[in-house]
Amino acid sequence: MYYIDYHTHTLLSPDGNAPLSAMAEAAVAAGLSQLCVTDHYDRIMEHGGIAPDYDWGPALEQFRAALPAFRDKLVLRFGIEYGSAPFDPDYARRMLSQPELDFVIGSLHNMSPEQGGEDFYFLSYDRPETCYAALDDYFASMLRLVELPETYDILGHIIYPLRYMPPEIRLDRYQDAIDTVLRRVVETGRGIELNTYCGKTIEPWRPILERYRDCGGELITVGSDAHYPERVGLGLPEAYALLRDTGFRYVTVYDKHIPTQMAL
Ligand SMILES: [Zn+2]
Ligand SMILES: [Zn+2]
Repeated sequence: MYYIDYHTHTLLSPDGNAPLSAMAEAAVAAGLSQLCVTDHYDRIMEHGGIAPDYDWGPALEQFRAALPAFRDKLVLRFGIEYGSAPFDPDYARRMLSQPELDFVIGSLHNMSPEQGGEDFYFLSYDRPETCYAALDDYFASMLRLVELPETYDILGHIIYPLRYMPPEIRLDRYQDAIDTVLRRVVETGRGIELNTYCGKTIEPWRPILERYRDCGGELITVGSDAHYPERVGLGLPEAYALLRDTGFRYVTVYDKHIPTQMAL
């Protein structure tokens, strides 16, 4: 099986813990064929406001230093998880023109600046109205993000805020928005990811995957969102089984933003 983990964080992410070399060792031990490092950069800070510009230096240095040791064991790719592109698209274009980049996950972790810009992680979800207000804003931002296909290769964890919400919160009322998002992803030659959230989120992806297939979606990556070496690759077998079950025959890998389909 050609296992890939295309969503992983190292200590260069604010909430990361280990160097890339440790994440790559874990990937080899887990039997992965490819590992893409996708440290965070969010244009909006955790509690709102524009973040300082990104310095590519440490990420490039870490990536280049790790490459030789894994040359015969693992394909390593250089990516980034870029958050909040719609709120400053010019900066996103400028920053993401970095020529060594293989892959960009376009994510939304924050409320829009108009709604305060708070990271979804910090909001309180004890009332359904609060959950749906956050989701209204989230999908409105996602509709803006898919009109900026030059700022991402695949759309990050589409169902992200559900991680923090009670299980009774449903996405049914966002079906039209989600369909529009998925159609635009396909029309612009972009893809989506199945983010296993370290193996905790597999089945909730089923309706998204089915709609994406209905829209003609083919390009899809799989990622664990691991922030620790012991979590690299968690949920991949289950994710691959779900992909096969929903009609996918390939996972996608990227080299300098160029997608290649690998048989499942
Ligand atoms: Zn994320
Ligand atoms: Zn992430």
